[in-house]
Amino acid sequence: MSLSFVHEGVRSENNPLDAVDPRIEKIKNAGVVGAGGAGFSFPCEVSEQGGILIGNGAECEPLLSVDKETMTLFAPEVVKGMKIVIELSGAKKGFIGVKKKNYKAVEALEKAAAGAGNIEVSLLENVYPAGDEQALVYDILGRTVPEGGIPLHVGVIVNNVGTLVNISRALEGTPVTHRMLTVAGDVREPATLNLPIGTSFREAIMLAGGSNSRNFKILVGGPMMGCVESDLDKPVLKTTSGIVILDVDHPFMARKSQSVSARIRIGKSACDQCMYCTDLCPRYLLGHYCYPHLIMRAVPYGLSYTNIVTTAFMCCECGLCTYFSCPLRLSPGELMAQVKREMIRKGVKNPHARTDVKPPEFRAGRLIPVERLMERLELAPYYTDAPFRENGYKPQKVTIPLKQHLGAPSIPVVKAGDKVKAGQLIGEIPEGKLGARIHASVSGFVREAGDSVVIEAG
Ligand code: SF4
Ligand code: SF4
Repeated sequence: MSLSFVHEGVRSENNPLDAVDPRIEKIKNAGVVGAGGAGFSFPCEVSEQGGILIGNGAECEPLLSVDKETMTLFAPEVVKGMKIVIELSGAKKGFIGVKKKNYKAVEALEKAAAGAGNIEVSLLENVYPAGDEQALVYDILGRTVPEGGIPLHVGVIVNNVGTLVNISRALEGTPVTHRMLTVAGDVREPATLNLPIGTSFREAIMLAGGSNSRNFKILVGGPMMGCVESDLDKPVLKTTSGIVILDVDHPFMARKSQSVSARIRIGKSACDQCMYCTDLCPRYLLGHYCYPHLIMRAVPYGLSYTNIVTTAFMCCECGLCTYFSCPLRLSPGELMAQVKREMIRKGVKNPHARTDVKPPEFRAGRLIPVERLMERLELAPYYTDAPFRENGYKPQKVTIPLKQHLGAPSIPVVKAGDKVKAGQLIGEIPEGKLGARIHASVSGFVREAGDSVVIEAG
């Protein structure tokens, strides 16, 4: 199989598909980026044979319901997006990965996919991190991604279901102006909302009934991989899948708020090498050379980039070892992430590239049910439904950053005083660079056009 890889949603030079399929241009023009959270510009690939597309609806982060609600409400658009990407990429078949507990989504998808022929719904267990691309590829197809590789290396494209909906809409001429996100945690009415990009977190929390706590912070992106934020005026982006509100004294928020350097310092001196962090690591359980306990032992003796230290390249930063596995509440995941960044900064190459990786036989018995994870993090009271609530909310003001994606920031194509309509282009990809277009999410007047475009509704 030969594969070539292009980025859509980006302006790319010498890309053969640009010239041959006008749908690519429509997707780019609509400003579609990966909606799963990382902000990758929408990937597409061409495979001669045997290529598979996976629609990722596994929703890794506990407490978030965005993928579930997206699949339930917009199943026909998910399936349409699958068909488009299958056609554009040359994939032969598509699978939509969805947790079986989300039975309404399963039902809607099965109905929408009936008769499509080459699209199947694939049921997943409610374990963490089910939505990790590499775990998903193994759980659905039984293929293991090589060390240091990506799903493309085993002929698989993975797109989040929200991205697929945006692709489907892009072909109807609708740009990305809104974002589905879950507002969960210590709020009166947990909900999944569809908000104009640039709406503040403060307004999103207000739409979920407000917080029960007077002194809270938020986790942007979910509890496990999300980051702590206390500025409620920050805006909802194309990649904001959810915000989780917790009192500052909640044990989990207190832990997330600790400085990484302090956590690593304590961890290095206290680790007793029990190995639980490695035993439950999802990448180790795929057969990769990922051994967080060895990093905990090696790093205090200095970074010499041995085969042990470079195993940090295998880590997907899921946080399971830090927040679930370690009985001493140390932070091996943070150490792995820090070492990885340090190696990238110093230009150290990943030496691990085994292709014959095989999950151990005990893998299935070591996967962590989300319910157990929630108990451990003392988040079980918040592990409730966050149903979609149609609100038609129109903020008075939106702040739309021109950098919400990987690649170069967009260049403003409007100026202060301009009148804009919802859906109008306000940020263009710089010539010859990778990036994504940005559109106005509300109609009104531009008040600022710098790193962000601020629009007052009117
Ligand atoms: S689980 Fe914790 S104590 Fe055990 S080896 Fe890992 S970091 Fe060390
Ligand atoms: S964060 Fe920990 S559990 Fe997750 S992949 Fe990295 S080492 Fe493994």
